[in-house]
Amino acid sequence: VSDSAAKVPSKILDLMDGFKASKALFVASKLKMFDHLKKRSPLNAVDIANEIGTSVCGTERLLDACAALGLLEKTPQGYSNTDSANTYLASDGEYSLHGYIIHSNDHLWPLFTHLESAVKEGSRQNHRAFGKKTEDLFNDYYQSQEVKQRFMAAMHSIAHLTARDVATAFDLSEFKTACDLGGCTGALAHELTQIYPHMKVTVFDLPEVIANSSCFQPSERYTAPVTFVSGDFFTDDLPEADLYILSRVLHDWPDEKIHVLLNKISTVCRPGCGILLAEMILDDEKKNRSTALLQSLNMLVQTEGKERSGSEYRGLLEEHGFSKVKIKLTGNFVLLAAPHIDIAEKSVF
Ligand code: SAM
Repeated sequence: VSDSAAKVPSKILDLMDGFKASKALFVASKLKMFDHLKKRSPLNAVDIANEIGTSVCGTERLLDACAALGLLEKTPQGYSNTDSANTYLASDGEYSLHGYIIHSNDHLWPLFTHLESAVKEGSRQNHRAFGKKTEDLFNDYYQSQEVKQRFMAAMHSIAHLTARDVATAFDLSEFKTACDLGGCTGALAHELTQIYPHMKVTVFDLPEVIANSSCFQPSERYTAPVTFVSGDFFTDDLPEADLYILSRVLHDWPDEKIHVLLNKISTVCRPGCGILLAEMILDDEKKNRSTALLQSLNMLVQTEGKERSGSEYRGLLEEHGFSKVKIKLTGNFVLLAAPHIDIAEKSVF
């Protein structure tokens, strides 16, 4: 065997396997294995298969794969959750990602099977994945109560996980009122009220979302009220606020729509108002930060938007008079990697 033949391209092999590991995590989550093991453990494969109504041979293989991936612990007595499975994978874990995992399995997975068409055509693939063609991504989500609930649960889980980093990336204490545009379940809004007790926070989102927001009650540690207002941020008046927040909203849209939205915000901003963006940020050369680059493919398969670099966001903001743009990378592992603020004095207007 020659030297070059003996080298194993482990990175490539890991990538080839990545989808199997993702799917194992998704299926174990969907079957609520981590919930069962949080309630009672250790359990063996027969116990778990009986509880969830699956085959023993399939269940055992999935449990072993999850243990080998570091999601479960396996001992001669059976399987138990790791601490991180209790916190992030059980559906009632403190920072549960269950909602986002189910969304990944049921929604993103079918869309990604059409990545090849998305790349060839340069456009979203919702019609191929789900057999329907609507103009607007959010119409797709909100037509069915089940899909809407799933989407909101996904947004909630990520927003809750990342809210503290976003809320504390900059000192926002000078702002007395904030409006989280597209603020969905209010996860970030509740965190803001805790960190800035004097801040009055409003969540503004589409009527279908606001009607469902009471399904996502904040934990008891959030005592300050958040106001929910329904409307369309492209066409309706925006609530008055000192600070406007767009968290993972701009990445859903092409530049033309972003200009409409930023123009509206800039028109209602008074001197001293600010805007806080929370987005994944690509590096300027778009060659590192693979999580953000993969997320941009995620936007390709389902939206007309994309992830952007810090300079691109800076350029968009400056076109609407938001100067003094500061960018801070929070280093958060998933999705909200880089909030981005402008506490412009509006002197440019
Ligand atoms: N900000 C939340 C977060 O960080 O998790 C949710 C982000 S989600 C990707 C985009 C949000 O924008 C959804 O809640 C959606 O309903 C809302 N949205 C989309 N179009 C909207 C519109 N025209 N007016 C108001 N909200 C809108």
